[in-house]
Amino acid sequence: MAYRSDNVFAKILRGELPAHRVYEDEHTLAFMDIMPQVEGHTLVIPKYPAVDLLDLPTEDLSKTIQVTQRVARAVKHAFSADGIMLAQLSGAAAGQTVFHVHFHILPRADGIDLRLHARDPAEPEVLAEHARRIREALIGPNDPER
Ligand code: AMP
Repeated sequence: MAYRSDNVFAKILRGELPAHRVYEDEHTLAFMDIMPQVEGHTLVIPKYPAVDLLDLPTEDLSKTIQVTQRVARAVKHAFSADGIMLAQLSGAAAGQTVFHVHFHILPRADGIDLRLHARDPAEPEVLAEHARRIREALIGPNDPER
């Protein structure tokens, strides 16, 4: 499948759609999933226009996974999670719905189940507050790269 520049994440990267951003650098962007499966559900994307994981140059993958680890630490701290689940869906058959490669960061806690994938939008005020908590954790003492 060829990359299409009209996908929602490409629009977020260009600033044509809003997003609750938590981290950005030259190569990557992290923002809140608009239909979170759990509180704190965050997405990390490379700026490189790749459809899926198999399409992403190794160098961009390295940068994206490093940022994913850093943001995951902040998410774990911000939501006092017991664990972190990462998800990466490549291809419609795997459940991918947005065709710009991304990693899902899902904070997990004992006894809290995941909601359905890409189903129920969260209130913007709630997402804004969650993004604020993660940004705060990213500059806090738990972030070794602060
Ligand atoms: P996937 O099915 O792995 O491609 O995941 C796409 C994710 O993007 C889903 O979890 C959606 O809830 C999420 N999503 C869709 N549109 C937006 C948007 N405009 N901003 C943030 N997240 C979005």
